[in-house]
Amino acid sequence: MVHRPRYCLLVTATSKNHGLTQKDLDGQTVAILGLGASGKAAAELALARGASVLAIDRNENLLPLEVDPLFQKYTRLRTVLAPSGADFLKDADRVVVSPGVPLETYGLAGLLESGKEVMSELDFAAEVLHKETAVLAISGTNGKSTVTSYASQLLQHSGIKAFVGGNFGNPLSKAALQCMGSGESQFQVAVVEVSSYQLEIPNKYLHPSVAVILNLTPDHLERHKTMWNYAYTKCRLFCHMTDCDLAVLPADNQLLVEAFRHGLNHCTLTWIGDLPGLKMVMDKKVAYIELPTTGLSAELKLDSLNTVGNHNFQNAAVATFCVLGLNMGIEVNSINEAIGKLSPLPHRMQIVHIDNEGKIWVNDSKATNVEATYAGLVGMKEFKSVVLLGGIAKQNAENNGSSGFEKLAEPLKCHKAVITFGASGEMIWKALLSAGLSIPCTTVKCLVDAVSLARDIAKSGDAIVLSPGCASFDEFENFEHRGKVFEELAMQSR
Ligand code: ADP
Repeated sequence: MVHRPRYCLLVTATSKNHGLTQKDLDGQTVAILGLGASGKAAAELALARGASVLAIDRNENLLPLEVDPLFQKYTRLRTVLAPSGADFLKDADRVVVSPGVPLETYGLAGLLESGKEVMSELDFAAEVLHKETAVLAISGTNGKSTVTSYASQLLQHSGIKAFVGGNFGNPLSKAALQCMGSGESQFQVAVVEVSSYQLEIPNKYLHPSVAVILNLTPDHLERHKTMWNYAYTKCRLFCHMTDCDLAVLPADNQLLVEAFRHGLNHCTLTWIGDLPGLKMVMDKKVAYIELPTTGLSAELKLDSLNTVGNHNFQNAAVATFCVLGLNMGIEVNSINEAIGKLSPLPHRMQIVHIDNEGKIWVNDSKATNVEATYAGLVGMKEFKSVVLLGGIAKQNAENNGSSGFEKLAEPLKCHKAVITFGASGEMIWKALLSAGLSIPCTTVKCLVDAVSLARDIAKSGDAIVLSPGCASFDEFENFEHRGKVFEELAMQSR
């Protein structure tokens, strides 16, 4: 049986989504900054809400929205392609900011301080998300997309209509837009992946029933500057939640716990790695959960999960805990059954090929930072691996400018060899040697060379793992492109 979500009786005006308000922005001008997927979706939503839209992007080569077929039916739309300047924002009643646009641009920080209505695309959508749609928000440095995907698959298995998006796939404005017109909630749940960029502007409307921050390790510091800012920004997720809503934090991350407490949040706090919350027994592939908002205690059986890497077992346990935390009447037995049916996302510890010699090819191209690679290596102990590291390393401002690859020397100990490649290949090679790496390590020019050397080194039963720990832009368009090229190269080994 499936119930509707439970809501608190006492809800403040700003903390609860107001639900659908047709044409509530009639006569207003909304400026949309950034015309990627989020900006375009926000522009569509603003137009549907009756506003005139001023669409702005710094890329002067973009096509104006007026010529985009999606927008051709609207006349209340003007595109300005300009890299800077705040003048054209002064007549806007609201400014909606895409995640890729930092507050230092277009005079946004000053506008915010002056009291102008400046909001993220996420909050703009949350403002009109139907009030019967419960929000499950998922954030953290690594694992967001995996947990978002697992949670949405679990909900689907239970017959619950869920929107899946945010930072992953469809922007939340699409969910709000889909509910407009019919006047009915199209979704019982919105599973929303949330990045720190989407929380940079304090939110007024986003009110998750369940929100999780999976982990927090150095990343995006070029934007947030310090780890404290990064943690504090992430914790904005919880600021409108009440004590019948569930927050989930990693028990071992003191900084996040401090940032959570500093924000004077009032929701019910639970832990990843402790009770109440969830505790993994990795050898048995079991998680124990305690859910204080409902009083549920249960054992989750994860051994049927189709994945590699301990972190993915934890991701599945967290997704399950959050879904049960929505309190929609889903039975633990049915969820235990669904766990075996979860499909992993591509490019995240994905076995893409087992060749005739029994070599296992694993694509973890999404590991674009050292922590993601670290988690991958620690969780891959069952396979002796030839590990491919490289691309463009991210500099870590809080680590004396070092890129942090030294910390991989320890988990690499139980593997077979390392091959570094790409723009940062030599730097990574030096960092590992200086950290006393105890397995053979070679540096080569590019991914193709790295794969061909790995093919020679690996023996039957070994894995060849691309878990680069770096951005991909020196050789590829993005991590997906890099992962696909790796997969094609893997398939050449018959
Ligand atoms: P995100 O959406 O946060 O970038 P993904 O699910 O796409 O996260 O995974 C990104 C990378 O992080 C992958 O390389 C994956 O193997 C690794 N990863 C996934 N889950 C975790 C976790 N819980 N802890 C650390 N690393 C993880």
